[in-house]
Amino acid sequence: GKRAFIAGVADDNGYGWAIAKALAAAGADILVGTWVPALNIFETSLRRGKFDGSRRLPNGSLMEIVKVYPLDAVFDSPEDVPEDIRTNKRYAGSSNWTVKEVAESVKNDFGSIDILVHSLANGPEVTKPLLETSRKGYLAALSASSYSYISLLQHFLPIINPGGATISLTYIASERSIPGYGGGMSSAKAALESDTKVLAFEAGRKKQIRVNTISAGPLGSRAAKAIGF
Ligand code: NAD
Repeated sequence: GKRAFIAGVADDNGYGWAIAKALAAAGADILVGTWVPALNIFETSLRRGKFDGSRRLPNGSLMEIVKVYPLDAVFDSPEDVPEDIRTNKRYAGSSNWTVKEVAESVKNDFGSIDILVHSLANGPEVTKPLLETSRKGYLAALSASSYSYISLLQHFLPIINPGGATISLTYIASERSIPGYGGGMSSAKAALESDTKVLAFEAGRKKQIRVNTISAGPLGSRAAKAIGF
């Protein structure tokens, strides 16, 4: 069977969860990367059976998440983590959650994967119009929502089996003006879409890995509700 790593699953409401289920139903082994600050509640909810209803697959069995990895995709390696994050109590309880370390952990645990899914985004100023967005907020949106995909691909490429596939999720606000999708999130999705073409060429040439992005319709995920969508 195939093995999939899905970055950006922290509850059962988002695209990451739905993609995990579809892949599990097709017979894949599921690994997920969960944002460090959301890890505790996600693992607790899983353990207590809170997601059992939504873990049910078409054949009646429950989706098994083989392993949950803590992940913060805005940090590539431990040297990049600033003091305030390192010592933050929500982070201090976990380890090896930078992109490089997660890829190393997956390699040590399983050797390789076949499918990499990027289902994460963050824009601290998403509720602000672009015209009112700060440089810091804009760059944070790009870091969490666009560069995070480049970083994941960079670090996971050596362990993705040839013929493997990677996808991310984008949104139509990249190409049309959608009021409410601010803070540089529209810019972040435009970057993600352009990068997908370049990365598809590069990863295709290098290792026969496919790189795609899906422009998803509106879904009432936690992230979408946070911006009133
Ligand atoms: P979601 O809240 O289920 O998923 C976003 C995830 O990103 C969360 O689990 C969050 O914890 C995680 N995350 C945020 N910052 C992170 C970081 N630095 N490192 C690791 N994880 C981090 O919401 P969703 O709407 O399902 O979002 C998944 C993807 O789908 C995103 O790329 C989003 O932009 C895209 N999308 C969503 C919609 C929609 O309407 N919901 C539409 C089109 C595209």
